[in-house]
Amino acid sequence: MTASVPGNSDIRARLGLRPVINVAGTMTALGASIIHPEAVAAMAAIAGEFVEIDDLQRRASACIARATGAGAGFVTASSSAAITLAVAGTMTGADLHAIERLPRRTGDNPREVILQAGHAVNYGAPVAQAVRLAGARVVLAGDVGMAMDYHVAGAITERTAAVLHVVSHHVMGYGQLSLSEVVAVCRPRRIPVIVDAASEYDLRGFLTEGADLVIYSGHKFLSGPTSGIVAGRKDLVRAAYLQNRGIGRGMKVGKESVAGVMAALDAWAARDHAAIRTREGAALALWRAALDGQPGIAARIVPDPTGNPLDRLEVAVTPESGFSAAGLARALAAGTPPVIVRDDEADLGHIHLDPCNLHEGEAATVADALRTVMAAPRAADALAPAPRDATAALRWPD
Ligand SMILES: *Cc1c(COP(=O)(O)O)cnc(C)c1O
Repeated sequence: MTASVPGNSDIRARLGLRPVINVAGTMTALGASIIHPEAVAAMAAIAGEFVEIDDLQRRASACIARATGAGAGFVTASSSAAITLAVAGTMTGADLHAIERLPRRTGDNPREVILQAGHAVNYGAPVAQAVRLAGARVVLAGDVGMAMDYHVAGAITERTAAVLHVVSHHVMGYGQLSLSEVVAVCRPRRIPVIVDAASEYDLRGFLTEGADLVIYSGHKFLSGPTSGIVAGRKDLVRAAYLQNRGIGRGMKVGKESVAGVMAALDAWAARDHAAIRTREGAALALWRAALDGQPGIAARIVPDPTGNPLDRLEVAVTPESGFSAAGLARALAAGTPPVIVRDDEADLGHIHLDPCNLHEGEAATVADALRTVMAAPRAADALAPAPRDATAALRWPD
């Protein structure tokens, strides 16, 4: 998406890292996104300067307010940190003593956070843990595939600090309450609704629908540095910001990330989104053509499940191809250069190719990689499913 050097592999070679091509999406495990050149410039410009951080975050607040329509906002170390700080803010308000006591509760401050059971996802870590880190207790509403308004209403007590509403492809795809249905339950009861929209493009809609706080990622579609954004009602944003004097200290964000996110937000407003969409569409067409006629492979273009303006190529894999879906993902990851695909639904017999993080020229490289693995002899484990154990993770640092 930027004019960066194709492949930009020099530092990776120096560090002994594989020059991976990312068709998985904005993944923390792959370094999130390509940081926009304007954000890189802002980060470099501020790196050697002293600033008054509260003032820098005041400027960020104005910038976030402009981009989202919120009353205020601030930048955090990550979206996960933003969830913890937002939840903590709904527990303590602006009570500085209560803030320093967290994760212990002060007096009868509320401490329960309601989460639809189908929203208890794992984005690389459990969302419920980000809530518990604040000292809150998670109260699940409904069951995995079925939540009704009475489940949320019935879970609300005088101990309720907030309802957390997660918007994500990880969330159960059916039987969930929409944000406006959640707001309809919470608003009359004066329960704040926090929306985790870390992976969403829409910077305004959730607040318009009645969310009190919305969490965005700085490093996903915005292409900023690793960071998160809290935006929303000014009193709640302030309460969340004040957590930097308490549990937020261990999650602190640096000046370079705050400046980088501000530049990324400005660049987002100026970006030619239609041209990017067209380029992404061309990549999908190229990949579909590369797979055309392959036995046991059926590729189709699918929209983003949460409605982001982004399509992906869904590649359905049957054993006739000599691969399982996970086996095809492994073969591409083992190639030269390694191509890392979106494989979270491999158990369903398909993988996705995501075009939103490509450098110039990489779409063609991926098409070549697809042809190469299809023509190559199959590895011994090509038909094996994705392992359900953590052996590989537990080998680190070896
Ligand atoms: C990515 C993501 C997160 C975590 O974001 P980080 O900034 O990596 O902490 C949280 N929630 C959702 C829905 C996400 O997609």
